Amino acid sequence: MVIIKDGSGKIIVGASMKEVPNILWLEEIRKEDISSVGGKGASLGEMASIGLPVPGAFVVTAQAFRRFLVETGLEKKLFAAYNNLDVENNEALEKAADAAKAFVLKAKMPVKIRDEIRAAYKRMDNGSLIVAVRSSATAEDLPDASFAGQQETYLNIKGEAALVEAVQKCWASLYGARAIYYRAKQGFDDHTVNIAVVVQQLVHSEKAGVMFTSHPITGEPLTIIEGSWGLGEAVVSGSVSPDKYVFDQRTEKVVDTLVSNKKVEIIADGDHGTKLVDVSPARQDAQVLGTEEVAKLAMYGKIAENHYGIPQDVEWGIVAGTFYILQSRPITTIGSRKEAKGMTGQAQNAKILVQGQGAAPGIASGRVVIIRDVKDTGSVKEGDILVTRMTNPDMVPAMRKVAAIVTDEGGMTCHAAIVSRELGTPAVVGTKTATNVLKNGQLVTVDGEKGHIYEGVIAASAPEAKAAAATQAVIGHAPIITATSVKVNVSIPEAAARAAATGADGVGLLRIEHLILGLNKTPGWFITNNKEEEFVRELHDGIKIVLDAFPGKTVWVRTLDAPTDEFRNMKGGENEPHEHNPMLGWRGIRRDLQSPDQFRLQVEAFKQLWKEGYENLGIMFPMVSHPDQFILGKEMMRGWGVDVEKVTLGIMIEIPSSAIMIEDFIRAGIKFASFGTNDLIQYTLAIDRNNENVADMYNPQHPAVLSLIHNAIQTCRAYNVECSICGQAGSDPKMAAWLVEHGITSISANIDAIAKIREAVARTEKRIILEAARSRDAE
Ligand code: PEP
Ligand code: MG
Repeated sequence: MVIIKDGSGKIIVGASMKEVPNILWLEEIRKEDISSVGGKGASLGEMASIGLPVPGAFVVTAQAFRRFLVETGLEKKLFAAYNNLDVENNEALEKAADAAKAFVLKAKMPVKIRDEIRAAYKRMDNGSLIVAVRSSATAEDLPDASFAGQQETYLNIKGEAALVEAVQKCWASLYGARAIYYRAKQGFDDHTVNIAVVVQQLVHSEKAGVMFTSHPITGEPLTIIEGSWGLGEAVVSGSVSPDKYVFDQRTEKVVDTLVSNKKVEIIADGDHGTKLVDVSPARQDAQVLGTEEVAKLAMYGKIAENHYGIPQDVEWGIVAGTFYILQSRPITTIGSRKEAKGMTGQAQNAKILVQGQGAAPGIASGRVVIIRDVKDTGSVKEGDILVTRMTNPDMVPAMRKVAAIVTDEGGMTCHAAIVSRELGTPAVVGTKTATNVLKNGQLVTVDGEKGHIYEGVIAASAPEAKAAAATQAVIGHAPIITATSVKVNVSIPEAAARAAATGADGVGLLRIEHLILGLNKTPGWFITNNKEEEFVRELHDGIKIVLDAFPGKTVWVRTLDAPTDEFRNMKGGENEPHEHNPMLGWRGIRRDLQSPDQFRLQVEAFKQLWKEGYENLGIMFPMVSHPDQFILGKEMMRGWGVDVEKVTLGIMIEIPSSAIMIEDFIRAGIKFASFGTNDLIQYTLAIDRNNENVADMYNPQHPAVLSLIHNAIQTCRAYNVECSICGQAGSDPKMAAWLVEHGITSISANIDAIAKIREAVARTEKRIILEAARSRDAE
């Protein structure tokens, strides 16, 4: 028996534990070994033990790490570096973390441990294998999970020396500032926290994807497999529309195959990470999996499901005919996702610190960083929770980094809500007091669905969130054909691939102001500084990204609609007028018609795109209140050389006057109309959409709003003009059902809502058909 004591003589490893070696092979590991191999190691071992083809791996145990600390005499020095540390003092925390990490990195690894790691690596394919080296921290009372993502992973490691170095780097990452802070706040004693390191063969899949071992919503014995070329990351992240296969376990037959056009794949980038590349034209439309491969994957899925007792969400890969099962975890279905296990149990007892409107779904935990001025966004780190009065376009770079966003102000259609939904970042808006109640550095959990901010870390683990995303992706591709088109809204070009991966029938609204505001200079600045070409190029390039993501599908681009206050912080913003109520002010088409240069530059970008053959580009005028505005806009475009009778021009219905006068707009030549309910509701009910004090009166189903919509739909139908919706109300399944019943032609929803809207539309259409058939029978 090995007895290992820490510097103070306390027994760390020994009497109470079995003698654990420095290295454990996957085949030896069971889930009970979690305190030696961490959660990752234990789950891989469990999968291998039931016969799933898991890539080869060994684990450098937590005990090896502890022996390293003890035998190098590092413990005393290491913890002295941060005894009595005030973790709220950022500077001191970073300093202490750097010192602790340096101690671990500089220490000489005991020869026995080093040689055992080398020997184990050599045993794997003669020591020339490329491996992934992943940290997995453990603590006696909480062996894994809560430390997820705090320590490092090193991919593409090759050679003994590089491996030993990577293991030591993983050990050092136990003392990263974020990790120390996190443990201190959670009440863990760092003296007893250990780290295991998983060393696993890196699988460079030729084809890969995800699999649901049963139908994620109905639970039917249907295995749903999505697959594409290259690494599975492309499917999980939604960068590609994968093939889809449905295997019926009862008949053991493939009952549905949907082959998609797979434009890109993610592959290994030499020895360093991965890269996204174009798929060769010949493989783009080629089927990824044959019938036998589907059946074999389904069989592995069944093994996992039977073992764990519940349907699994599995990641798989295939290289040169060899199958690998990379991950298996319980499916978090759309229906139960909100009540994800890890969350509910703890959430019931957790303290709600503040609440607001759940504006972008998802659950995330992290450290609060309060931003009172955009100049301070430099302090925002990856994984933080951004808390601010209201986000601005110039905050988007910081918004990209954070795990969740919380604002004092705003409603479901404010800037923070729109951008968060597109970034896929959970957000809660309109909390009124978050910037006062929450404290910098505090650990919180944000539930972007319920609108709650809880004290402490109680979020579902990252794999669950990923599983939810994958579930969403699969359901997004379900071959539900609807007569009513289901389109998607896009505001930032980087969301175009995710938007396209939903399988949407086109883009019903591309808001270009987010693109322009992101340039951080007003259109006026470009004009007065003779930089018109640059402005046109930026606009052209941004729109092109979206058009390219939707080949052959219509993309309605809306001309600029930014209220004057949103321009103020930008270069050139000093010349913006101060308006009493910017929502009722100089925005939308009314500003473009009075600022011909600004309008002309936008039209210039559209013209270039039409010239390049993007016939799917349609243009939509926002904030029209009278048909004369449409006519004038059209004539100005004609004057700049646009063949206005040929291209597709339409309007947003955002002001009650345009709903009431829709027939006159149709006579003026609009080819389509789309309800901008975010504004239509605020202008019909006199409720500022961004004012949380009156948010409870902002009612999309107010009879007056519904009556305006109903009448406009009927008129459009009578004239055979496409009638759509792109306001937030279109992302609500109940409203979508109502709109279908009332005859709308298409619905454009947020990326995250496409699957549920498509389902609501399909269900409503079927009900209408059924009821019609029944009443015919009854006659
Ligand atoms: C709307 O008003 O419903 C709309 C989609 O436009 P925005 O939210 O950009 O004002
Ligand atoms: Mg609007």
